[in-house]
Amino acid sequence: MLQQDYNSIVKSCAPAQMLAVSKLQPEEKIRLLYSQGQRAFAENYVQEALTKQKNLEGLSDIQWHLIGHLQKNKAKLVAGQFALIHSIDSLELAQVLNRHCAQKNVTQNILLQINVANEDSKEGFTLTALRRLWPELLTLSNLSIQGLMTMPPLTETGAEVRPYFKQLCQLRDELKKTAPPQHPMKELSMGTSHDYRVAIEEGATIVRLGTILFGERPTAR
Ligand SMILES: *Cc1c(COP(=O)(O)O)cnc(C)c1O
Repeated sequence: MLQQDYNSIVKSCAPAQMLAVSKLQPEEKIRLLYSQGQRAFAENYVQEALTKQKNLEGLSDIQWHLIGHLQKNKAKLVAGQFALIHSIDSLELAQVLNRHCAQKNVTQNILLQINVANEDSKEGFTLTALRRLWPELLTLSNLSIQGLMTMPPLTETGAEVRPYFKQLCQLRDELKKTAPPQHPMKELSMGTSHDYRVAIEEGATIVRLGTILFGERPTAR
């Protein structure tokens, strides 16, 4: 990607933070984007993420986020290893992660992943479930809930996702009222390459861009 294209994408993301979604992309492409000024990268698969972290640890102040579904049996591996884990999608997962963080004596920043459209195929808390489990989530003392994340239903146009982004923003505002300082609830991670402009209009503080930065992903893992 040309420096000039990179700069204009970064600019179009303001005031949100732009994450470069580097899943399945080779380390060389990460180095290239880093050299253009990008610092925050997001990965989906735990093993791939940890390998890249290790291989690229020479890139000072690089920041890693985890955005893919996290299995409970991998929680130990990721505890304390990411600037932010976006994909905490059940109370059980939050509890397991909290326990590993307590053992390592670290506090892990997380987002709660919301299934805004109640899709059967999707991970995440439904709005109803989250309201019910909220008091219990607040007691997890080695996690810091920074906000909410969603992947809305795949639609043809950005306009159709707008109501889902609005809902996520309202839910964040509602829950923030009862959150203690340990759980700032400021962030809204929403918007990918094809709908990030709409997401930003609806209050996204973090957008997750893959294809628009790196081109199509290689399909083989
Ligand atoms: C892959 C992925 C993205 C990036 O999607 P693009 O369409 O390539 O921008 C964002 N968020 C999540 C959770 C992803 O898995």
